[in-house]
Order: sequence, then structure tokens, then C-alpha cells
Amino acid sequence: MKQYKNEAGRYIVDIHGIVQGVGFRPFVYHSARELKLCGYVSNIGGSVFIDVEGEVISMKHFINKIMKTPPPLAQIEKINIRKAKMKGYDCFDIVKSSEDKEELRFIPKDTAICNSCKKDILENSGRWFHYEFTNCTDCGPRYSIIKELPYDRCSTSMRSFEMCPACKEEYENPDSRRFHAQPVCCPICGPQLKLLDCKGKEIVAQSAIREAVRLLKEGSILAVKGVGGFHLMCDAENQKAVAKLRSRKQRPHQPLAVMAADAAAIENQCVLNDRERQLITSSQSPIVLLKKKATCSLPNILAWDSDKLGMLLPYTPMHMLIFADGLKYLVATSANLSGMPMEYENQKAIDHLSEVTDYFLLHDREINIPIDDSVTKVFIEKEVISRVGRGYAPLSINIGAQHQLAALGAEQKSGVCLSKNGYTHVSQYLGDMKSPEAFENYKKVLDHLIHLLRIKPQAYVHDLHPGYLSTQYALEQQGMKLALQHHFAHMASCMAEHKLTKPAIGVIYDGTGFGEDGKIWGGEILVGNLKGVTRAGHLKYCAIQGGDKAVEEPWRSAVSYLYALGDCSLEGLAGLDNGVTETVKAALKAGLHCFESSSMGRLFDCVSALLGLCSKTTYDAQAAIILEHVADRQIQSGYEYEIQEDQDGLLIGYEEIIKAILTDIRKGKGVTEISCKFHNTIADATVEAVVKVGKLYGVREAVLSGGCFENLLLLEKSIKKLEGHGFTVYYNEKLPCNDGGISFGQLAAADRIMRG
Ligand code: ZN
Ligand code: ZN
Ligand code: FE
Repeated sequence: MKQYKNEAGRYIVDIHGIVQGVGFRPFVYHSARELKLCGYVSNIGGSVFIDVEGEVISMKHFINKIMKTPPPLAQIEKINIRKAKMKGYDCFDIVKSSEDKEELRFIPKDTAICNSCKKDILENSGRWFHYEFTNCTDCGPRYSIIKELPYDRCSTSMRSFEMCPACKEEYENPDSRRFHAQPVCCPICGPQLKLLDCKGKEIVAQSAIREAVRLLKEGSILAVKGVGGFHLMCDAENQKAVAKLRSRKQRPHQPLAVMAADAAAIENQCVLNDRERQLITSSQSPIVLLKKKATCSLPNILAWDSDKLGMLLPYTPMHMLIFADGLKYLVATSANLSGMPMEYENQKAIDHLSEVTDYFLLHDREINIPIDDSVTKVFIEKEVISRVGRGYAPLSINIGAQHQLAALGAEQKSGVCLSKNGYTHVSQYLGDMKSPEAFENYKKVLDHLIHLLRIKPQAYVHDLHPGYLSTQYALEQQGMKLALQHHFAHMASCMAEHKLTKPAIGVIYDGTGFGEDGKIWGGEILVGNLKGVTRAGHLKYCAIQGGDKAVEEPWRSAVSYLYALGDCSLEGLAGLDNGVTETVKAALKAGLHCFESSSMGRLFDCVSALLGLCSKTTYDAQAAIILEHVADRQIQSGYEYEIQEDQDGLLIGYEEIIKAILTDIRKGKGVTEISCKFHNTIADATVEAVVKVGKLYGVREAVLSGGCFENLLLLEKSIKKLEGHGFTVYYNEKLPCNDGGISFGQLAAADRIMRG
């Protein structure tokens, strides 16, 4: 037994959080050895377990170091330390992982290439020079390749690659940056890149990547397999290539994300503040929505409808190497057929994309769970996420949940949320569930997360909408079910994120949600807390003709609102076609396929169509996005509006607003002015309604959520005006305000309700 000069002892330490796959064990190992401590470190389940003994003073330094300077990607959520009887260890080791039964689990996230690995592939003449799958303890794929926890090579897609002696040596050498880096590999033993033609036939070239770059420079479209799935890529500066990609993907207008060679290349085209630069260069490497500079030289075809571009940096060695040869900007959009989820399996991608892409650049490292790029933006210095994906998911937040629950989200921008031991874990964005393939993927991710996190749901939480596949799936499960209204879930997502327990007023504006009265809601003023809300007011109902078609065809909303006003003259309304409007008017008269709706999204659609900006959409929320884009932000005035009160609460009227807009249009006022006045009006009416409800209920907290608040002009104006009236205002930051945040809200509310 080792002898100690000073007082000695033994600690058993459990560390919970994101502590696996981030170099925690090597860090503990080095720290312990430096301080001459003995014992061992191991992964147990999802946590790190340390059994350590030595001089008490050194142990204190050791614990301090773990808490204050853990590895960069680690996120410690909880640490338990207890004393134990000395065991007489004589050295410090890393021992094999083992299973546990019941404790906190977190799943490591996919991480962008680190600076040291960048040097390895671009500068250092070692084994990793120009190797596309280089990684280390600080970077590389994680969640997308994990099949099981604890996180070890044998429970990932890397298990089919046997380490060569040189890699094994690095893996086992505590002084290597790749000590216990599970996906470590090199050109001898690791995944290989292949270039295929559009039919899947291999193209023999000296270097697949150099040939791919040549093809991209020529204007070809390539389906490129990355971390979480395939991208479609083409030279973003080549207008013809982008147009070809748009036409083949049948995506005429939706903004396309652009991957740029480096931060300087981004800064050449877009305005980048410190926070944005920090986000874009972060280890999560999301797509960041950035404002284009006036001098932006990238073609408008990348984002017709907006003055913003979604930009990201290369986040794998392969992507870096694509840019090593002079390319500056590449379109990087998820590779999928219209309505289908992103492709992530080689053979299926070849089967599905042969008409869309010219070539495939793919590899033989299997993606276990597909995951799209994350989309985020900076609003008033803070990050506000739009899509939870690679690098962010699964998103673990401690809300003190007391139950194990599964919340199944909504239908578009679907996703799931699970809870255990206080934490919620939000899945990646799972897209629109309409296609059977997307639904299959949704179920796969749900099962996978339930399995990894060892969750036994006590209840399944779902939307009120009986037609949602997520609702139907919840109802098929064994055990308790809990249905929550859509806009309550939106409000709960924001309240839970900000740990708001006091009653608040929720301003929930979005496209479509099933209301408690069976009507379509979406312009809601709610008041209450996580246990439940009262509908204190809403945008006045209007019968909208066309159901789901109205969502894709804003002109239907316009005609429906005109019909409700009794003003069906199309004079001055360039965006509306007399022939089709007559049919819809007849349908409105007969009440055919008409739905009472208080949706704010449809009102924005209506105004966008009346102004001739967008009468048919080709992607989600296009009409509102264009309306926001054209607004002249200098204008401070608004329109008259009316707020009525009846036994159901406040009714925000639309009649005065639309009449005034029609007058402005017929007077020949510009769309830029009318759009901004409309935004101002909605913000004014909202604030007046909130002030009234606030007085009635004695509440000074306001919560803004729902997809309409992706509109930053509306968000900014609403916040300013509410704060001007003394309200404390909250909005979603970590969770999307769109339906991507619904599952989290459902879970937070359900947990609170079940506590009683
Ligand atoms: Zn690295
Ligand atoms: Zn190797
Ligand atoms: Fe919604």
C-alpha cells in the first residue's frame, strides 16, 4: 500500500452532464497523475465515475480543476462526491466502461472540426494530412453515430473499422490528443470517400475529393454525405448551377444555406457582429441567419425573398478539403426529394436522388441517426434558435421534471421531447411528418432516444389535433395519455425555458393550431401558468376557405377576409385573379370547406396577398417572410383597429385594419409603407390587449411565442411596446418559437399538471 506523508483519503466522485465523448476520462487521468493521485476513472452509463485516493490537499486541487476547467466540450450538470475507506490503489488508470441502472444520462453531440485537427489535415505532414475523417477527443461525430451508451467505439458506427496499429497506439497513449477518442481513424484503417456518378457507378480518380472539387467548379451538383446526412452542393457563385439545383429539387424560392470557405469569406458578404462571429465559428457550427451587405456579390437566387442569408462554415475535415482548392461559397442544402426527409443512407440516397444530383460524394461511415443542420440567429445580442439540429440536439435542459414523459410534438417541424431525473431532452428537428418516410424516421428517433436515455414514459403527451400523426401515434401507446392545446404548449415552451412560475400573459401568434372549441386558433392571448391557461382574447374569427390549401395559397385568405368585410371588389389588387376568386367566393357563400380561424398567420398571408407580394407559396411562411422583408422600418404610424369585449374575452378586430389597407392600396401607397404600418398595427393592438388583460388579472409578465415571432420586426416592435408599458417580456431563445418548440412545452406543462 502506498504511503502518504500528509493526511490522505479516498473520494468516490460521480459526474453527470455531457461528460462522455468529450475527452473527460483522459482529462481526469492526466489531472490525477499530475497530482500523484491513485485510483481509476470510468464511464458508467451516461456519467463519469472516479474512484480516487491520495493526499487530501491534492484531492481538493483535483476536484477544483474538474469543476473549474473541464474539457472544452464538457458540460457538467451535477457532481456527487462522497468519502470512502482507503483501498490502497498504487496508480491511476482508465478502466473499461460499464452499464448502470438508473441515473442521469446525456448524449454527446456532433462537434465541428477543432483547430488542432484543422492543422493536422492542412499543414502537418503526418498521417492525417488531407484525410477527410480526421478527428480527436475535442471534435468529430458523436450523436449521429452512437448506437448505445456508454459511448465507446464498439457502440458506434465506427465499430466496423478496426484500428490500425498506429491509431491503436494513439488511442491508448495518454499523451496523445486522440487518447480514447472513439472515432479515431486514419487513411489506413478508417472510412474512405468515393465519388459516384448519378446512377451510383464509381468514378475512378486519383483523389475523389479533388475530382469532386473540379466538378463543382464546372457547375455540377453533388450530393455530399456529411455528418448527419446528405447535402446537395453546388457553386453558390454560379447562378446557372443554383438555378439547376432549384429546378431539380422543385424548390423555386426557399432560401438556400451557403457554406463559406472561412469567416473572412462570410464577412465579405454579410454583416457579422461579435456574437454572430462567435456562433458561426462555434464547435456546434450552425447555420446562422445573417444580414447581407449592400455590396454582397452572391446571386439573389440564393434567397429571393429576404435580405438575409443562412451561412455556415465547413464543419468536417472533408468539407474543409472541398474548400482547400479555391472554392469560396457552396450551396449546402439538405438533400431530399420534395416532402421527404433528408437522405442519410448510401443506397437510398442513390435510389432517390439520381434525377436531382449529377454526382455523389459519399463515404462508408454509417450514419445511425440522421440530423439536419441547426439554424440560429442573433436578436438583441442573444442567440435565438430556429431549428434544433446538429451540434445542439439532443438538447438537455434541467426543468426539474418529476416524471418520465414522452411528448410527441406537433406535425410540421415535428420533434419529440423526453424527460427523466429532472431533465428534458429535446430531439433534433424531424421535419414535416406528411410522408411515410418522415413518419418512420420520427418513430425511429423517438425509440432511439427512449432507448439511449432508458426512459419508461409514465405518460405520452400530445397535441389536441386529432388528425396529427403524432397524436394518433401517442394514442396507440400503452399507458396514460395527456392532450394539450397547441398554443398553451407554445406558451409553456417559453415559460419553462425561462423558469417562469408566476402567471403570465401569453401572446401566441402562429399559423395553425387546433382550438378547444374545434376551430383553428393562432392569434391567441392566453393567461395562466404551466398548470393551465385561460383564453383571455384572440384575433376575431374569420371563415377561411380551403383548409390546408389556404396555407399554401395566401390569396384564399385574402378573398376570405374580403368576403367577411363584404368588400369583394378587386380594384387595385394585382395579386388576385378574378376567375379563381369567384369560385372561392361561391364556396364561402355556400360554406364549402370553410373553417373559422383566428390564425395570425392567415392574416399576414391575407395582407401579403392583397399587396400582391405572394399569392401562392412554395415554402412555409413565404408570404409573411416577404411581407416582413419589404417593410420600410422608418415608418412609425399604424392603422386604426378595434378591440371588442364579449363573454369570451377580448376580440382583436381585423375589419378596420383591412379596410384601411385597402384604402392605402387604392390610393397608390407603396407596399413598403403599408407593410410596416400593418406590423405597427398588430404590435399596437397586441399591446393594448395585453395591457387590458394585465389589469384584469394583475399580471405584469408577457410571453411571446408561436411561429409568427420568427418575424423579427414583429417581435422587436412587440417587445419594445410591451416594455414601454412596464411589462417584463420573455420570448423563446433556446427552443424555437415555431412548432419545433412544441414538444418541450407539452412536456413542461404535462409534468407540472401531473404534479397536481
Ligand atoms: Zn480535433
Ligand atoms: Zn489508422
Ligand atoms: Fe404552432
